[in-house]
Amino acid sequence: MKTIAPVTKNETYTVDISDLTYQGLGVAKIDDFPIFIEDALPTENIVMKVIKVKKNFAFGRVIKINQKSPDRVELVDKSYTQTGIAPLQHLKYDAQLEFKRHQIEEDFKKLKLDVEVAPTIGMQKPYQYRNKAQIPVRLVNGELQTGFYRKHSHDLIPIEDFYIQDPKIDQAIVLIRDILRKYRLKPYDERTNGGVIRNIMVRRGHYSHQMMVVLITRTEKLPSRQEIVAEITKALPEVKSIVQNINPKKTNALMGKENKVLAGQETIEDTLLGLKFDISANSFYQVNPIQTEKLYELAIKKAELSADDIVIDAYCGIGTISLPMAKVAKRVYGVEVVAEAVEDAKRNAQINHLDNVDFVAGYAEDQMAKWQADGLKPDVIVVDPPRKGLAASLIESVVKMQPKRVVYVSCNPATLARDAKLFSEQGYQINQPIQPVDQFPQTVHVESVTVFNQQ
Ligand code: SAH
Repeated sequence: MKTIAPVTKNETYTVDISDLTYQGLGVAKIDDFPIFIEDALPTENIVMKVIKVKKNFAFGRVIKINQKSPDRVELVDKSYTQTGIAPLQHLKYDAQLEFKRHQIEEDFKKLKLDVEVAPTIGMQKPYQYRNKAQIPVRLVNGELQTGFYRKHSHDLIPIEDFYIQDPKIDQAIVLIRDILRKYRLKPYDERTNGGVIRNIMVRRGHYSHQMMVVLITRTEKLPSRQEIVAEITKALPEVKSIVQNINPKKTNALMGKENKVLAGQETIEDTLLGLKFDISANSFYQVNPIQTEKLYELAIKKAELSADDIVIDAYCGIGTISLPMAKVAKRVYGVEVVAEAVEDAKRNAQINHLDNVDFVAGYAEDQMAKWQADGLKPDVIVVDPPRKGLAASLIESVVKMQPKRVVYVSCNPATLARDAKLFSEQGYQINQPIQPVDQFPQTVHVESVTVFNQQ
């Protein structure tokens, strides 16, 4: 076994880039030793400087590109790569879509599963799409700033145009920043767990244009609260809800447990597939509204629902998949762990006059076992889990209920492949092809829909 790396820190090397990792880093090899390099693409020949050497790999930085990839496009702004806001901004959009398709294929191949993956469904304007921003507020050179962290660091790079966010949200952040400056609010200090204002969260309904502002504070007390609220309301007429979320802990978790409505309503409303949705501060809501409609339409079509069908929607959030399905199916059961989201889901059923739905707050793995033990016989089960995928026990409960189909909406191809293997071992085969839908242009995130049929 090799113990000495063939490269040395701070030395420069001329290398060919042979691959792109799932994190969007170019890969060069020297004597089989991999070096990962930001802003480098396959087929390129570059001069790079080694910046970090580990036992089995190293990191490098591009010094000069001798030969460019035909898939390379101009950087919009270097800071979007440095912060990780848009780690694929140097890759042509068509190539990003292919990168994501290929990623799914690769993750299945690693488990010796051969699958067909359809071309990724992309978007026409693959930027300014996000309906939600979570922006840290920190002191930079003595001034309150909003921006994003340099990757793997605690340095905030001030940013006003976030490129992938709804520009109305960017404008709102700048206005709120200026109001916070005016009232001399103290930005959060991670080192001492001091200061007041940690983050600003803004959400804006793509169709409704209703805006929610969440001020995440360390302290219960928000100095100049009335003035700040009045100024935000005046400066941003779209704001329908201002919430203070209190997060006193020294933690990387964004939000704390306590919410206080400072002005307006507790929720904002938006529309998806013609249905209305109430969304509260702590609820999950897909961030790319244009692509979400495509994703859900596809999931619903692939579910092939009929009027007699019983459906389970696991990880249902505020009911954005459950409710369109309830319009077609006989009855839909949803489970979700965030209690506020379940409250939203129940209200959303009422707002849309759908009474053939049941929402339960709890862990999907527990509730699925319970439904199975209670003798529920769903025809279709939809799962839309977070990145860690499904628990093996949940897959067992699903299989025991013997649905005709399982529709799996995944945001992580690695766990999708792992779970697909378990499904296939238990009699559920993939109805090819897997269909990726690009929910996160310019980033490395891969979202897809897979259908499993009972054999
Ligand atoms: N289908 C919804 C939400 C998908 S995101 C939509 O598209 O909007 C995943 C959801 O799973 C989140 O709402 C999250 O709160 C929830 N969740 C995470 N872990 C869970 C678990 N163990 N059991 C149930 N829900 C969970």
